[in-house]
Amino acid sequence: MQFSVEENFARQLDIEDPLGSYREKFHLPCGKNAKPLIYFGGNSLGLMPKSARQVVEEELDNWAKLGVDAHHAAGTPWYSYHEALREPAARLIGARPVEVICMNSLTVNLHLMMATFYRPTKSRFKILMEEPAFPSDTYAIKTQIIHHGLDPTDTLVLARPRKSEFTIRTEDMINLIEKHGHDLAVVMVGAVNFFTGQLFDLEKIIAAAHKHGIIAGFDLAHAIGNIPLSLHDWNVDFAVWCSYKYLNAGPGAIAGAFVHERHATNTRLPRLAGWFGNDPNTRFRLHLEPDFIPVASADGWQISNPPILSMAPLRASLAIFDQAGGIDPLRAKSTKLTGYLEFLLTEIGSKKVSLITPRDPHRRGCQLSILAHQHPKQLHEELVAAGVKCDFREPDVIRVAPTPLYNTFHEVWRFAQILVEHR
Ligand SMILES: *Cc1c(COP(=O)(O)O)cnc(C)c1O
Repeated sequence: MQFSVEENFARQLDIEDPLGSYREKFHLPCGKNAKPLIYFGGNSLGLMPKSARQVVEEELDNWAKLGVDAHHAAGTPWYSYHEALREPAARLIGARPVEVICMNSLTVNLHLMMATFYRPTKSRFKILMEEPAFPSDTYAIKTQIIHHGLDPTDTLVLARPRKSEFTIRTEDMINLIEKHGHDLAVVMVGAVNFFTGQLFDLEKIIAAAHKHGIIAGFDLAHAIGNIPLSLHDWNVDFAVWCSYKYLNAGPGAIAGAFVHERHATNTRLPRLAGWFGNDPNTRFRLHLEPDFIPVASADGWQISNPPILSMAPLRASLAIFDQAGGIDPLRAKSTKLTGYLEFLLTEIGSKKVSLITPRDPHRRGCQLSILAHQHPKQLHEELVAAGVKCDFREPDVIRVAPTPLYNTFHEVWRFAQILVEHR
């Protein structure tokens, strides 16, 4: 698409935007002048859907009026509340319903998945990750390794950007998998890198891993609700995600896990269990049947009864994705929105900033990571003072994530103006 630096061009894109009305469905945080901030922080915490309040209040009312009986009351009974989330979540990641369970938080789910899929042997015990990975993932993976009595220094294999590059070349990651093909047990990569915004070539990574009998797992924290995924067809072994970033389900919202059907239905797989992973027919006969009988689906990894109040907003936010027609129309707008931001930064901002996010739209989601050439911290402070919500990563990177559900082309235009006016 041909972009233009003219303000009217941005306004015209907003008029033509078929998803423009979705902004109304969200509460927009305001700055000191009571005007909405340019909220480019959806990669940290997505905005609150207006519909979330009602869904949460319904459950507070159910609790008030019904007490324990709300577990089996009409509407969405608490006992099976997670089932209401399964299909909309599965649609977003290209999964079959049997492969999805919404539960816990991301890092907890990563540990649960590793408990099943990381079964190191004498000959096959290594784990490959990307660097830099999100700190929590690194803590989880390193402690998994230590938990098995191994030493991370000769167990963790890291794929890194080349010297003076910011993103990791797919070929370098594939070569690393090939090189360690006989002793890698698991490849666990953040599908979209939190720092650079790079979207990895998942299909190539999966193919390379599977060629050597290696498990391929992904952290979708920055991918779900951002890019289209086909986890089932791609044969991903497992995946985990959180729901408070692009899914807009609120702080600490209930997270999710994907277990491929070929594993999910295998009740013999080892796991860390609790009563809600047990066959519902025998779940309450705890004194009669002390043996754990897992549900033959991703539900078999559920441990505790579902936390209703942190699941309720996720119902509201997933409904918005369905109303919008799923991830494809959102991705179409997102590609344009982020492409427009890239165009403006290149046209009018290139003296001050450059991008470390890949230029190829197929290799990124909505986020651009901007490298500020001079006074990066002050630049970020001035952006904030001018009403922009974006974040700063030491030493010199500003991350901005225009999202297709609630950001506008005119906001992207204004952001670029603010950026060139300062520093
Ligand atoms: C946001 C994020 C997390 C957060 O983990 P929680 O368990 O939800 O606190 C983990 N990993 C990645 C890659 C993230 O981007």
